[in-house]
Amino acid sequence: MTQSKKKGTRDEFLEERLDRVDGWVQEGKIPFSSKVIPVNESFPTQQRVLPTEQVIQILRKARSFALTSCECRERYQRCESPLDVCFIINDEADKYVTEKKARPITIEEAEEVLHKANDNGLVHLTLNKPEQHVFAVCSCCACCCHDLQFLREYGRSDLIAHSEYVAHTDMEACTQCGDCVERCVFGARVWEEEQMSYDSTRCYGCGLCVTVCPNEATVMQQRQKKNRV
Ligand code: SF4
Ligand code: SF4
Ligand code: SF4
Repeated sequence: MTQSKKKGTRDEFLEERLDRVDGWVQEGKIPFSSKVIPVNESFPTQQRVLPTEQVIQILRKARSFALTSCECRERYQRCESPLDVCFIINDEADKYVTEKKARPITIEEAEEVLHKANDNGLVHLTLNKPEQHVFAVCSCCACCCHDLQFLREYGRSDLIAHSEYVAHTDMEACTQCGDCVERCVFGARVWEEEQMSYDSTRCYGCGLCVTVCPNEATVMQQRQKKNRV
């Protein structure tokens, strides 16, 4: 199936990848291409299950894991976000380490990498492929990431699953500074008619808007089960 981009020139690399992922989904080999995990800093410290902890748990449960460079940003070079923020696990990690394309790291080092990703406004995504399912835990930018481009350029919201959380904004506490608009790569927050407008139905639950709000007007809440992907 040939995919159509919403605007601009064709990107054959991306189209080929999109066709491959579509094939895996249609054959039932993976449930979706990727899934959002919210950043740790978007939750109060008293919360029992911290979402970045979900990433750490994936790494802890893996037989092996390693840190590799972000292939999407190396390919597209559209931003200056850090490159060394991409975790790969198990067979994929073993292969990359053998080929000297990744290095094993400790859990403590992985936590530092996740903090750096949040400082740079990067979205945590787990990536799926057949057999191994989750094979990578990435920290992604909207301009280079293949999966976020599937969503933004091809309108394929079906290929990315929401996290278990959704942002809630108290508009009375919001002072309309607009800082959260740039953080939201999913288009749930836009600046229009001199104010920030938030559409919670477009929220994927990444938590990045929470960490920049100067008034704590936004919090993350558990997503209702019926609204989960
Ligand atoms: S999926 Fe994200 S972190 Fe992984 S290579 Fe692509 S942009 Fe980089
Ligand atoms: S509103 Fe946007 S930035 Fe905030 S949690 Fe939802 S998807 Fe992320
Ligand atoms: S960052 Fe907070 S105060 Fe600023 S526009 Fe967003 S919700 Fe409102």
